[in-house]
Amino acid sequence: MDVAFVRGAFVPLSEATLDIRTHAFLYGTAVFEGIKAYWVPAEDLLYIFRAEDHYKRILNSAKILRLHSPQDLAGMIQRSVEILQRNQFRTNTYLRPIIYKADTRIGPVLVVPDTRDEFLLFAEPMGAYLNKEGLHLTISSWRRLDDNMIPARAKVNGAYVNTALAKTDAALAGFDDAIVLNQDGHVAEGSAMNLMIVRNGTLITPGITDNILEGITRDTIMTLASAELGIPIEKRPVDRTELYIADEVLLCGTAAEVSPVTQIDFHPIGTGKPGPVTQKLMDLFDKVIHGHLPQYQHWLTPVPLKTL
Ligand code: PMP
Repeated sequence: MDVAFVRGAFVPLSEATLDIRTHAFLYGTAVFEGIKAYWVPAEDLLYIFRAEDHYKRILNSAKILRLHSPQDLAGMIQRSVEILQRNQFRTNTYLRPIIYKADTRIGPVLVVPDTRDEFLLFAEPMGAYLNKEGLHLTISSWRRLDDNMIPARAKVNGAYVNTALAKTDAALAGFDDAIVLNQDGHVAEGSAMNLMIVRNGTLITPGITDNILEGITRDTIMTLASAELGIPIEKRPVDRTELYIADEVLLCGTAAEVSPVTQIDFHPIGTGKPGPVTQKLMDLFDKVIHGHLPQYQHWLTPVPLKTL
């Protein structure tokens, strides 16, 4: 039976329920992470990818929202290892930790006497989120949240209404995903993944003051491009029309991994096929997450499944 971690204990998923008056449900006052664990059948283990970085980010998101996690960094990583061992999913698995305001009360204020914040975690098998053959994206008519609205660098549950609107409109119009512009009209990112372009051999991606999520896959890809491929990186504002004339465009994120974009609003990107830099990065990323490159082993938390 699948188990989840709530209110300090592992329980069957069906018993992992919340009071309908929970503040986080009423007001979206929660922060979360999406973490992937990759199945390596030959070793009968899962590798959690960059667990420490994800949990550092959730603690930063919590700090921005004035939430206090009942679990520290080491505790959250330990719970993640344990939930995978208890569930025994022998497949790629998604982890969803949430730090949420657990008070049962009306009123949006975050800081009140005796306020209670909780940590929960569940896991579920996850296959490919986007196709890797070449995506057709559209520029969304929705704009990305601004740092002075709901901070884009925090993974706030309520902020994903923005994501849901952009992704849904794109899907209803027949596109694979959306590109969201920020309030300045520059490219921010995909619906829930960062975006990079290749122009004249340089990998270019919006900087962290462009209302992006400071993506962990984005950081991974910049590291691999620079260290393994010797590709120069530029972090700077990206214009919408730079997308149309880019040699390559890619999306990257925990769910998206590295996914080539081959059309945007019916403009073919480059040759209209996944480009060579994107393909090399996809290949490198795949090797890293499966533990084939020893120099990146420190990004992996091994979870042996046979110990129970
Ligand atoms: N932007 C948004 C809005 C996201 O939700 C995600 C997924 N966490 C990303 C970018 C990619 O970030 P990461 O590589 O850390 O998953």
